[in-house]
Amino acid sequence: MKKLTKQACMSCDAEFLGHEPDLCCSGSDCGCKGLAIEPPLCEKCEAKLYGSDLSEVKA
Ligand SMILES: [Zn+2]
Ligand SMILES: [Zn+2]
Repeated sequence: MKKLTKQACMSCDAEFLGHEPDLCCSGSDCGCKGLAIEPPLCEKCEAKLYGSDLSEVKA
């Protein structure tokens, strides 16, 4: 199960509470050093980036 953790948005540096990111691996054998597969993004930036509809947002 994933838990919510405090994260810093990659795009705007805002702190937000999000699901723990999926990590590529434990980082010991891989060049990724255990980084997340997807960068952490706050709701705003995620909506901007992926263009998902936020019901509250009006065009
Ligand atoms: Zn952001
Ligand atoms: Zn890896």
